[in-house]
Amino acid sequence: MEPRDLSDHSVYRAGRGIEEVARDLGLDPDDLVKLSSNENVLGPSPKAAAAIREHADAVHQYPKTSHTDLIERLADDWAVEPEQVWLANGGDGVLDCLSRALLRPGDRVLVPRPGFAYYAMSARYHHGEVATYRLPKAEDFAQTADNVLDAYDGERIVVVTSPHNPTGSTMPLSDVERLAEATDEETLVLVDEAYGEFADVESAVGLVRERDDVAVLRTFSKAYGLAGLRLGYGLVPEDWADAYARVHTPFDTGELSCRAGLAALDDDEHIDRTVEMVEQAREYLYDNLDARTWESHGNFVLAEVGDSEGRSPSGGRSETASGEAVTDAAQREGIIVRDCSSFGLPDCVRITCGTAEQMERAVDVLNEVIDA
Ligand SMILES: *Cc1c(COP(=O)(O)O)cnc(C)c1O
Repeated sequence: MEPRDLSDHSVYRAGRGIEEVARDLGLDPDDLVKLSSNENVLGPSPKAAAAIREHADAVHQYPKTSHTDLIERLADDWAVEPEQVWLANGGDGVLDCLSRALLRPGDRVLVPRPGFAYYAMSARYHHGEVATYRLPKAEDFAQTADNVLDAYDGERIVVVTSPHNPTGSTMPLSDVERLAEATDEETLVLVDEAYGEFADVESAVGLVRERDDVAVLRTFSKAYGLAGLRLGYGLVPEDWADAYARVHTPFDTGELSCRAGLAALDDDEHIDRTVEMVEQAREYLYDNLDARTWESHGNFVLAEVGDSEGRSPSGGRSETASGEAVTDAAQREGIIVRDCSSFGLPDCVRITCGTAEQMERAVDVLNEVIDA
């Protein structure tokens, strides 16, 4: 026998882990700085880590109370009804829940290019199809309603990432609203706010409260430093929020994830420290990197490290695009950044914001490689 035709499906390629890279290069993992997956370099909230230890002895039980408690807490924080909080296995799990709830076979999802790979993957997993709208580099990846509407053709879901990965740009709330107005009644505008904590722009949750066609995605993976736990949630319109009960996996978020999430929400100090570090790191990268950068509202900065012809950083023609060449050369010096070829930006790399010390070392290495 065989699985169904999966030829349209792609494999998610995550930024490589420290241990993996260290083994390949024969380096000590402690000498590597991983700035490729937009994780919080300060680690998890200490309160979350304590909650995980505290509840470790209770994991023989299915998570029930903790799931309910976390949903109620988030509903309270966002001023929505508990039904409107779709807790899931990471932000990725939220995308799956929405695909299951909304897509009939053959329905299309409109996603940004460049953009986060899992939007298209989740749609295809759920027998949906994918169309893309472009965020042109020539326009500094500007996110406007018109940009999306030019490509819009009645898709069931339209995804907006704000702040955007990998560009760091945001879509003004007025444009999100205009997009929701202009699209069909049966089209959902999903605003992915995975990096929302790093932006000083308002969340689209206000539109979720007012309308029946806007949803928001949030995650504990980035600012909260809990990527390893897989915890995220959607905020969806009240009108159809009860669909969650019919599409989510039983117990899809673990006991320790929920406990840690609850504790992390009480740790403002950790979030404040994280956001402050990120703001300083962004400024440092803009000011010191010998490459064009774009203003970012996330915990990363996109940098153009070569020309788009795929030349190597030394200027000569090369087999590989320059983002990849810079990534490989930096990695040999212990700095792991994200090559953006898979985003359709072969001349760019994405650098996760870290501590002052990490940023100094990263810039030293990257500048040396770029200027070589
Ligand atoms: C990281 C990320 C997510 C969600 O990640 P999870 O770890 O699954 O919560 C969603 N969207 C974007 C754009 C991201 O970068």
